[in-house]
Amino acid sequence: MRLSRRHPRYRSLAVRARLAAAARSGLVVPEGLIAHGRGEAFDYLLGERSSPGARRAERRAAEWLLAARHPVVSVNGNVAALAAREVAELVRAVPGLRAEVNLFHRTPARARAVATALRRAGVRRVLGVRPTARLRGLPSDRAWVDAEGIARADVCLVPLEDGDRTAALRARGQRVIAIDLNPLSRTSRTADLPIVDELTRALGHLARDARRWRRSGRVARLRPFDAAAALAAAQRAIRGELTRAARAPSPPSPRPRRASPRPARGTPGRSRRTP
Ligand code: ATP
Repeated sequence: MRLSRRHPRYRSLAVRARLAAAARSGLVVPEGLIAHGRGEAFDYLLGERSSPGARRAERRAAEWLLAARHPVVSVNGNVAALAAREVAELVRAVPGLRAEVNLFHRTPARARAVATALRRAGVRRVLGVRPTARLRGLPSDRAWVDAEGIARADVCLVPLEDGDRTAALRARGQRVIAIDLNPLSRTSRTADLPIVDELTRALGHLARDARRWRRSGRVARLRPFDAAAALAAAQRAIRGELTRAARAPSPPSPRPRRASPRPARGTPGRSRRTP
């Protein structure tokens, strides 16, 4: 299907088409499409833009990634399909940041497909295709990790994650930065640094903030972050959007439709004469 760029929701439709194609190729699982739908709903509620609170979280997260000794970004099928380019940009912006495939629905073929998408986007080394370690206490396949990557990371960036693994990583003393549009999800509520923002916007901001930080010459530190305050700010942003929407005049209603279109001049229907 051809999408018109003039369609008011062109971007959203294009992203859906990309995800649907990725699902057909096996990179994304059907469950990933459902997760995307949930994300879209929250993005709508957030006005489809990065809130000031999200930007604060992104700036601090960029600092954490730069300050970490072994930072890792975890990549699943949705992330590879939607944001392989942004992941590559972030890997370039943060020296030492490694990208690792991590899948809830893991098969060797899917793991390879995620790695291929990342390599094509410019990530030179991708970990986790053949996992070499397992996280304890996590029953899902997300427990399969790379001994050189997530297993030894001190800071993990986990976009579009589930709450179980966030908790498992934290229980190991690792710091977790989450990207999740839902401020109520277990992931957001468990992460040390929840970024409540859309994936591609958040990754783009992280790369830009990291580059800015490095240019400034300041020393990056693992400074504290108030996760509860960040989530409360995201919830306020949603409330604010809803309040604005409730006050705004409703969109113009479409003109009442005629039962049948009036025939154009000169067409047989306008003729008084019966044939
Ligand atoms: P939990 O409550 O355990 O954290 P969940 O069941 O909400 O997890 P998933 O079903 O794996 O988790 O969904 C992933 C999350 O990713 C959802 O909360 C959804 O809001 C979010 N999400 C989906 N697409 C995007 C996106 N493009 N950008 C940011 N977040 C997204």
